[in-house]
Amino acid sequence: MKARRATRQVSVGDARVGIIRIGGGLPRADGTPTTPAPVSVQSMTAGYTHDVDACVAEINKLAAAGADIVRVAVPEKKDTHALREILPRVRVPIVADVHFHFQRALEAIDAGVHKIRLNPGNISDRAQVIDVIQACKARGLPIRVGVNEGSIIERRDKQKRMKELGQVFSTHKHGYLLAIIITKLEEYLDIFREQDFHDITISAKSMDASLVIDAYTAISERFDHPLHLGVTHAGPRETGCIRSVAALSALLTQGVGDTVRISYASDPVYEVEDALELLYALGLRERKGIDLIACPTCGRIQVDLFTLVQDVRKHLSTRISVPMKVAVMGCIVNGPGEAEGADVAVFAGDRRGIIYVQGERVASVPEPEILDRLLAECLAFQDRVLKGEAKLGEKKVEIIPPDPIGELGSGFEKIAKGQVQTPLTISRP
Ligand code: SF4
Repeated sequence: MKARRATRQVSVGDARVGIIRIGGGLPRADGTPTTPAPVSVQSMTAGYTHDVDACVAEINKLAAAGADIVRVAVPEKKDTHALREILPRVRVPIVADVHFHFQRALEAIDAGVHKIRLNPGNISDRAQVIDVIQACKARGLPIRVGVNEGSIIERRDKQKRMKELGQVFSTHKHGYLLAIIITKLEEYLDIFREQDFHDITISAKSMDASLVIDAYTAISERFDHPLHLGVTHAGPRETGCIRSVAALSALLTQGVGDTVRISYASDPVYEVEDALELLYALGLRERKGIDLIACPTCGRIQVDLFTLVQDVRKHLSTRISVPMKVAVMGCIVNGPGEAEGADVAVFAGDRRGIIYVQGERVASVPEPEILDRLLAECLAFQDRVLKGEAKLGEKKVEIIPPDPIGELGSGFEKIAKGQVQTPLTISRP
């Protein structure tokens, strides 16, 4: 895992909604130092912006799920007009996503939006871009220059530079596209530089994860602006998650990427949840809430563990605010070792569950009572942590596995001895 790449720093938001910083590490124009901000999570509303109540509800839902910044589409004047009603009712910075009509950017800026996204592929008129830059400059707003693979193909000029870059990327699978992307960005960012405007983030999204990795790598070597990572049109969550995580992990582990959006053809709340989980997994964000460890189950399982795990997640995801590690293990064969370090753990087997809190055995209950007792122990432990009576991650005593032929029994040994009836009842989602 490489250290974060040093970039300029961009700030989004205001005193009312809070300020989210993106990137950092390079000094500001006045020479004051910056340090890289935590990688932020963005998402985008799926509904119409002019449907004010629904849009506010969606923004607030995304913010509650953990989105740091929310983007809204403003294809029509009624959408930018609606921003005047929406903005006072939300508590997260809002980005207006502008395509084709630069006037939408000016209207959104007038309405008080916190950031503008421009697509060089469909707003390329120099005078129009300068108008937007000057309006943002007057209000101290940043701009994301968001190149999309799908909207740059038609480009015809800058042939010379493309030819040069084509040679640079000649050995690359996506050499031609990379040359277009870099050329487009260079040309576009020249306008910003001429206007002495540097509050810029850059994105270069594609639906192809390998192109995303190479495009952002190339961009990170050429520009010092913070990067907004994403795989666009990634599909439904099932496949989109893999594509996004493949590309974003490759970049983030190389220190590239300052803010991320995972995009799904699904409820955007999943985008936020999965982006956060990715950042937690890479240690790029401090976890808020439950860190759930669960075994995948195997032929030793003797309880309905899949349902139990889902229920634990569902009940605790909104009720635990401290980064508590909770282990739900299917048996005692590997469970105790794998649950080491967990604050609360349950080992199930033989239709019972034994619950430990920081290594101390606190309960042994029949299967129907496991969920309620586990939730109660987690909430009680959280209370103690919040009162300063207990410390997360502090294992007081070793987890000593229950006697394999005792209370829980060993699924493995019982199966071997023919003591367990088969087929075992396993509910699969
Ligand atoms: S904890 Fe037990 S049931 Fe779960 S996978 Fe490991 S051995 Fe199998």
